[in-house]
Amino acid sequence: MEFKAESKRLLEMMINSIYTHREIFLRELISNASDAIDKIYYKALTDDSISFDKDSYYIKITANKDTRTLQISDTGIGMTKEELENNLGVIAKSGSLAFKNETELKDGHDIIGQFGVGFYSAFMVADSVTVISRALGSDTAYKWESEGTDGYTIEPCEKDAVGTDIYLKIKENTEDEKFEEYLEEYRLKSIVKKYSDFIRYPIKMEVTTQKPNDDNDEDLVEVKEEQTINSMVPIWRKNKNELTDDDYNNFYQEKHYGFDKPLKHIHLSVDGMLRYNAILYIPENAPYDYYTKEFEKGLELYSSGVLIMEKCSDLLPDYFSFVKGMVDSEDLSLNISREMLQQDRQLKMIAKNIKNKIKSELQSLLKDEREKYEKFYNAFGSQLKYGVYSDFGANKDDLKDLLMFYSSKEKKLVTLKEYVERMPEEQKFIYYATGDSYDRIEKLPQTEVVAEKGYEILYFTDDVDEFAIRMLMAYEEKEFKSVSSGDLGIEMDEKEEKAETEEKDNKELFDHMKNLLSGKVKEVRPSKRLKNHPVCLAADGEISIEMEKVLKAMPD
Ligand code: ADP
Ligand code: MG
Repeated sequence: MEFKAESKRLLEMMINSIYTHREIFLRELISNASDAIDKIYYKALTDDSISFDKDSYYIKITANKDTRTLQISDTGIGMTKEELENNLGVIAKSGSLAFKNETELKDGHDIIGQFGVGFYSAFMVADSVTVISRALGSDTAYKWESEGTDGYTIEPCEKDAVGTDIYLKIKENTEDEKFEEYLEEYRLKSIVKKYSDFIRYPIKMEVTTQKPNDDNDEDLVEVKEEQTINSMVPIWRKNKNELTDDDYNNFYQEKHYGFDKPLKHIHLSVDGMLRYNAILYIPENAPYDYYTKEFEKGLELYSSGVLIMEKCSDLLPDYFSFVKGMVDSEDLSLNISREMLQQDRQLKMIAKNIKNKIKSELQSLLKDEREKYEKFYNAFGSQLKYGVYSDFGANKDDLKDLLMFYSSKEKKLVTLKEYVERMPEEQKFIYYATGDSYDRIEKLPQTEVVAEKGYEILYFTDDVDEFAIRMLMAYEEKEFKSVSSGDLGIEMDEKEEKAETEEKDNKELFDHMKNLLSGKVKEVRPSKRLKNHPVCLAADGEISIEMEKVLKAMPD
């Protein structure tokens, strides 16, 4: 026996549970309209009797506040009576999926529909939906009408041209929901921009604009004008050679990825096992909330040009969370609401791909455009160092060559590679000193011995520096060593012995000092390495004084 379903309830449940944002009803209806036009396009490819003149295919949105109706029309393939019954009368039946299978469309197609439920999302905002459709090659049109729960009616009607008109009777406002907004020009425009900007066919709408009036005086008059409100051709589908820096910068601005200018853009068009397009940006400045909990990382995720997710966080590792941009792929297995993915194997592969690409782009920025890289590093370097430190240093190999530290010798940021290459042969360790500022570190008594030896010292002023470096442990087999550590690995000559006799000879003095400072220091002892300074603080054990400070300042 076949299962029966309480279709009324099923429809109601479905409509109200699969979508998290009501506004996507428009995305769904526009996607259907685009599919309908695509079908004519694909038919024309193999059928000479059908011509496809791009200019006569479009989607049109018309809002009428007086009648509370929103109309979405297309000049697509239309539906016969049977198709209206089968596609709009049977839940989860997708004419578009069937079309894809029948015509054996190969890779690179743009048909969006597949689940056969998107249409019903109209009932999230409408009390009733009327569809008037005339199929390609048919003289009669049909009217399909439904209030959602009580089934539908179909009857013949008039329609001049092939295509489909959908009328939504927008719901009355409730206390917490202003359905009326779906009749507002600016709102409709912004929903189209958000989800459907890259639909391949023009989406037209009457838009109010300010124009100088005929008298040519200063006054502007409001006029209604039909405009195409979507950009249509996504920049990521264009050929890189045809795009200028300005094009990329404009896209960054248009998409509100940031208020700054991007420092660098990365345009990826990957084909093969994995297919996707991406445009990624490395911003110039960190957003104001970047180093706070409020900041949300992620890239926009599109499927065949339709926005699926605004911030897909799985596409970026935390240490590259500053990267902005979008990814578009036809191969994603979407879940039924098309707001999420069903399984993330492709996504994981894309993410890995993207990560490696960002890494290599940063490396070449460092190599070829040092100044720019330093600018980048000043904004986002801490994030890279957190990346080395977190996950028990799992990312350290990806990141170690992107790190920079201020050098005592060069008086500027240097990489670990540069440091190691300059090391004199007898130098065993990579030395670093920690403090609040470069100035203060320079005056640290502890740096004297190392500096006098002529060895370079890296100055750590960022809280995370020493933690990151401890995770790294070594670079090219050279271990890191704090100038404050007990054994500096430097030949100490006769001074060492002197220190020992000094302690014995002046035992009383040391004891006295220890008493004076009791509770503040554990021990007072003669130093083996001070040159011009009388005294310095030294840490005992694994954790340095600076690390201890950081740990103490952290919230429990
Ligand atoms: P999907 O788009 O995932 O197939 P929908 O519920 O959105 O599911 O639409 C169901 C079917 O109805 C589509 O597959 C298509 O065959 C048909 N359809 C919907 N809207 C239109 C339209 N504007 N023009 C032609 N056919 C349409
Ligand atoms: Mg659909």
